[in-house]
Amino acid sequence: MSDEQEKKSQPKGRFPFTVVRHVVQVLILVLFAVPVVAAGWSLFGGTLGGNDAIRTPADLPFFGTLSSSSVFGITLLDPFAVLQTIAASKSFSLDWLIGLLPLLVVYALIRGRVFCGWVCPVNLLLEIVDWLRKKLHVNVEEHAVPRHAKVYVALGVLVLSAVLSFPVFEALSPVGFIVKGIVFGGVAGGITLLAIILAELFWGHRVWCRSICPLGGFYEVVGKVGLVNVKIDHETCIGCNKCKKVCLCDPEILEPAVDGGDSIVRAGDCMLCGKCIETCPVKALDIKIGR
Ligand code: SF4
Ligand code: SF4
Ligand code: SF4
Repeated sequence: MSDEQEKKSQPKGRFPFTVVRHVVQVLILVLFAVPVVAAGWSLFGGTLGGNDAIRTPADLPFFGTLSSSSVFGITLLDPFAVLQTIAASKSFSLDWLIGLLPLLVVYALIRGRVFCGWVCPVNLLLEIVDWLRKKLHVNVEEHAVPRHAKVYVALGVLVLSAVLSFPVFEALSPVGFIVKGIVFGGVAGGITLLAIILAELFWGHRVWCRSICPLGGFYEVVGKVGLVNVKIDHETCIGCNKCKKVCLCDPEILEPAVDGGDSIVRAGDCMLCGKCIETCPVKALDIKIGR
């Protein structure tokens, strides 16, 4: 089925998850860029502010990146970045714990990989690459990589951070590259991002996010306890498997629900992207709070 036919076959009256998600992803990038511009700097590391400019964006109520930000003086830290810092420095600070708790609690309560689906700019970029690939009719032979590999990569990153005494993924992160690059400039992580795009084009569909990204692996573990889930109505489902074909994570995470063994998508790596819900022709899928 072509993209156009697929689009026409989608049921009407569903919440437009994909459009809303993309708007949120772009707004988050804008949100991080605004303080820098407001402080009189230019983006990409430029500092063109005049005499009236605020000396530093950190003086504003909101400032930071996805790894570390400050909202009205409250520090928000990416929990996985903190774990890497603890491993690298072999020390622990109560401030780090206080800084990581708000994000950890929010993501744990909702679903860890909601970060991947709704916040991470790499996901947005890879969806654009995927769309382009379809438009240009570039067919890729899929090379399956087990989806839980990313959890072991996350563990490996922590061990490596301890051995090398620096937070390894923070230095190479494509997520940091996009946000920090827009705000401050810099190329760290650019090679990782290029490798991810090449893997997307020539190795397999979403292989980085599905199976390799350590941040995704960390949030997969956190996501196991999430309270917001995709639920299925077994009486309505006709077993067409269209939901599996569009899943942004991996078709197999929908299997227990579609096969009748579970009433929700329980896998920790569901990113609540809503693609399956939008696509289901009989509206058998929806969002449910609670497990
Ligand atoms: S798996 Fe990694 S790169 Fe992909 S969306 Fe999640 S955090 Fe971003
Ligand atoms: S199960 Fe549905 S909501 Fe979860 S990642 Fe797959 S398509 Fe997105
Ligand atoms: S949940 Fe919807 S899309 Fe998925 S198999 Fe059932 S009917 Fe098809």
